Amino acid sequence: MAEFDVDLFVIGAGSGGVRAARVAAGHGAKVAIAEEYRVGGTCVIRGCVPKKLLVYGAHFAEDLADARRFGWKVPDCEFDWKTLRDNVLSEVTRISGIYGETLENNKVEVIHERATVAGPHEVKLASGRTVTAKYILVATGATPAIPDIPGKELGITSNEAFNLEAIPKRIVIAGAGYIANEFAGIFHEFGARVTLVNRTNVILRGYDEQIRDRLLQISSGKGINFKFDAEIERIEKQEDGSLLVYIADDDPIACDAVMFATGRQPLTNLGLENAGVELNDRGAIKVDDDNRSTCESIYAVGDVTDRIQLTPVAIREGQAFSDTVFGNKPHRVDYDNVPSAVFSHPPMAGVGLTEGKAREKYGAIKVFTSDFRAMKNVLAGRNERALYKMIVHPETDVVLGLHMIGPDAPEILQAAAVAVKAGLTKQAFDDTVALHPSMAEELVLMR
Ligand code: FAD
Repeated sequence: MAEFDVDLFVIGAGSGGVRAARVAAGHGAKVAIAEEYRVGGTCVIRGCVPKKLLVYGAHFAEDLADARRFGWKVPDCEFDWKTLRDNVLSEVTRISGIYGETLENNKVEVIHERATVAGPHEVKLASGRTVTAKYILVATGATPAIPDIPGKELGITSNEAFNLEAIPKRIVIAGAGYIANEFAGIFHEFGARVTLVNRTNVILRGYDEQIRDRLLQISSGKGINFKFDAEIERIEKQEDGSLLVYIADDDPIACDAVMFATGRQPLTNLGLENAGVELNDRGAIKVDDDNRSTCESIYAVGDVTDRIQLTPVAIREGQAFSDTVFGNKPHRVDYDNVPSAVFSHPPMAGVGLTEGKAREKYGAIKVFTSDFRAMKNVLAGRNERALYKMIVHPETDVVLGLHMIGPDAPEILQAAAVAVKAGLTKQAFDDTVALHPSMAEELVLMR
């Protein structure tokens, strides 16, 4: 009889867990995966996928207005939130189904229950059943962190934003990270009056300063309100059902909804102490370069380890774990030059070192910029300038970073990130003939 019920028990069927389970099963391991909510995890159910679909839906507000300048007779259009919401939710269900099928096709046992760690080789399910495993992989992700203030229960998070009954007329968004800025754009384009309230005086900490300043300038110009150095003290419900948001040393803000986008906390309340799995000072599972926790038989990947909280990173970690432990193909995730985007209006994207970080590391780096108005925006009469920045090593000419804001920036950046990852020089960009007319050609025309 086998020593354990399964070779691998994965807790959490999100980006990292599903990849790890499928790949381990492909390598011949006997695998079970537990999911307490819906297969697909944050990205598919209430993150990247529905968010991006809402961004597409929201951008029609600008496209329909611009279309008139391109000769289209656009009648007064009405936006119907429930149509978009329900279409997005059914797309989410479709994709979640595909994830489930992939697991089943790979003979992974999918257990639709909450699971906790009972010991180094033991998982306890909500039904009371216990499963023993040679290895346990914790891929439980993260959950919105909500400040502990009076009235916090009156607010929502991104989790609930996809299921709203109606678009609020006025919304206060707490936070200034990518989720806050993306939803500020979404709600604004759908006609809400948006006020973003942030503790510090910057948005999108960690992104290139000039690029995020450009987003701030464009977003403010569009009518999104920013309140900086402001902390929400409490939220109160009014008799008419609206909310009052109290901010220290300032007038309260009247609104119809408050959304907390104040960071995401790794989900670790699952009995990890029963197996000696330690957390780091940010409350994330401590892992080594091979995703192994402080318990020899327990590994962790994805947001629960809080390395880079992005889907493609969680997927790579899941792949590396299963190839290493079950596939006899050991490899590690390379965290250098991971591209990322903010799906604002217009979107931002970047890869590699920002100007600030490059200066800290190399001193007098070279910076090339292209500050231009996309052809489409010129004809549309849209006064919105794109900005591309290239950060170059002072001696080797290697491109250290690329940062951009403008239409389709994430699509353009993904291709350019290959060049940055490959360590190409500025000269290699210069040697490439421009593809004209395009916005991306600015990348090879920066002088
Ligand atoms: P998750 O995908 O969160 O999966 C964890 C799963 O574990 C969940 O399904 C959860 O229900 C389950 N679970 C938790 N505890 C238990 C338990 N005890 N028992 C059983 N199951 C459990 N990333 C991008 O790359 N691009 C984007 O554009 C992007 N947009 C985002 C937008 C929003 C609004 C949010 C919130 C996130 C976004 N992300 C984006 C981040 C991305 O979703 C995460 O980085 C990614 O989902 C992490 O994958 P994971 O496998 O670590 O965890």
